[in-house]
Amino acid sequence: MAGSGWAPPRLDGFILTERLGTGTYATVYKAYRKRDTREVVAIKCVSKRSLNRASVENLLTEIEILKTIRHPHIVELKDFQWDSDHIYLIMEFCAGGDLSRFIRMRRILPEKVARVFLQQLACALKFLHDHNISHLDLKPQNILLSTPENPQLKLADFGFAQYMSPWDEKHVLRGSPLYMAPEMVCRQQYDARVDLWSVGVILYEALFGRPPFASRSFAELEEKIRSDRAVETDLVVEAVKKDQEGDASAALSLYCKALEYFVPALHYESDARRKEAIRAKVGQYISRAEELKALVTSSSKKLLQRENPARELLKEMAKDKPRLCAALEMASAAIAKEEEGKDDGDTLELYQRSLGELLLLLAAEPAGRRRELLHAEIQTLMSRAEYLKDQMKMREAQSMGKEALAEPVRSACTLQ
Ligand code: ADP
Ligand code: MG
Repeated sequence: MAGSGWAPPRLDGFILTERLGTGTYATVYKAYRKRDTREVVAIKCVSKRSLNRASVENLLTEIEILKTIRHPHIVELKDFQWDSDHIYLIMEFCAGGDLSRFIRMRRILPEKVARVFLQQLACALKFLHDHNISHLDLKPQNILLSTPENPQLKLADFGFAQYMSPWDEKHVLRGSPLYMAPEMVCRQQYDARVDLWSVGVILYEALFGRPPFASRSFAELEEKIRSDRAVETDLVVEAVKKDQEGDASAALSLYCKALEYFVPALHYESDARRKEAIRAKVGQYISRAEELKALVTSSSKKLLQRENPARELLKEMAKDKPRLCAALEMASAAIAKEEEGKDDGDTLELYQRSLGELLLLLAAEPAGRRRELLHAEIQTLMSRAEYLKDQMKMREAQSMGKEALAEPVRSACTLQ
């Protein structure tokens, strides 16, 4: 049986090879054109049995239209064929896999990358909507990447959703409800706007590594979507846990990271009640962060100011190695600056530069006492640099948080 059997199906003019993926409706294979160029393509085999009542003819007309669509961020449909059981769509091959795998492999995407991807996705959707085509099944599995390096997004698997009912005869939902707008899941009327809901869910997943309403059941999903609780980030949950475990410095850095997300939310929230709820949270995190900061600072000062005889010994042993000497000097300068209270970007850079050098030297250092000492020193320097980075981040998050908290109060005063 083509599409789901062990061996790839046969298709005139092509050699089908490995299976690239199986989606909701079809199986996709990598293939080569037999003629001259041996062009690489992806062939999607759709079983006719998965089509709903809309006639196959209508679908073929639709595919004919899709063939005319050309956009840099939409997977190109090159051609199609069919036989008694299947429709075969011959598409541009995307070597970078799909966005779902891409996010999974990196856990989360940096904001810069997410921003570019969102722009490309918006571009493709605008183009489709201008042509009166809705996607209706937007999710990371249906967004492909052109290449593994510097990938461009390519929107796939669209235009068929209207022929493929999201519900099959046994009333089982096909596709992932995690990305579907509630009106679609609830089988009420829906329109092109459902795509926008999905875009939001995808963006959230790109930034946080999982969809905002990740659930194990419909009931849980519905409860999460309906509730007007702010989507709690894992960061806060983790922070509270670390705090309870007595790990003050881990809790502190998690609270600060959480503030980085909640402060912008405070800015953008337009619903007064929810804004008030976020304000209360931001206030609460700031005051806990301040208490933790006092705790962490006093204990780490003690730790950092301890005399370090190993460092002196290492310097002694480095006397015949000018490069190592210089790198250790640079590290000492960073420590001195920090102890003078210059806990800023310059000091951090000094730490980072010396660490870069020391790590290189460590790689070339033969086994022995000096290597052990160097290794230990690098670890100390790394945790100091980490600590400094956290301090800087925390200051920034706190001042941002305080500014944001002060803002609505001011505007409320001017109103009165
Ligand atoms: P379905 O309609 O069954 O969901 P899709 O078109 O979404 O089928 O394809 C299923 C999977 O196959 C995708 O998630 C992706 O991993 C892979 N795939 C689809 N099209 C291509 C392509 N053009 N190039 C590379 N991989 C693809
Ligand atoms: Mg799909």
